[in-house]
Amino acid sequence: MTDTLPPCPECASTYTYQVDALLTCPECGHEWSPDQGNSSEDQVRDSVGNILLDGDTVTVIKDLKLKGSSSVVKVGTKVRNIRLVAGDHDIDCKVPGFGQIGLKSKFVKKLLD
Ligand SMILES: [Zn+2]
Repeated sequence: MTDTLPPCPECASTYTYQVDALLTCPECGHEWSPDQGNSSEDQVRDSVGNILLDGDTVTVIKDLKLKGSSSVVKVGTKVRNIRLVAGDHDIDCKVPGFGQIGLKSKFVKKLLD
């Protein structure tokens, strides 16, 4: 243990203290993990926990009905060159026969090859 904890990344307070694996700031209430940067929380993961990146190829793991249409993206559909975006549908991609659509990362699986 060291008594020099890093200052709060939000408000730069030096009165931070450790609670289990987290550091806590008493001044602004911010909590963070000292051994992981904030970046890991921003990572998008597929249905089985693989980290997804721009340009990855994924397959759809269940039939997905497209909103506002009777079309269904079938399970097993391969989607190339995905792009990660913010929001509920966090994958922006072009699906053959459907065009540009948004998918949810939990309904895809990264194709590892
Ligand atoms: Zn703070």
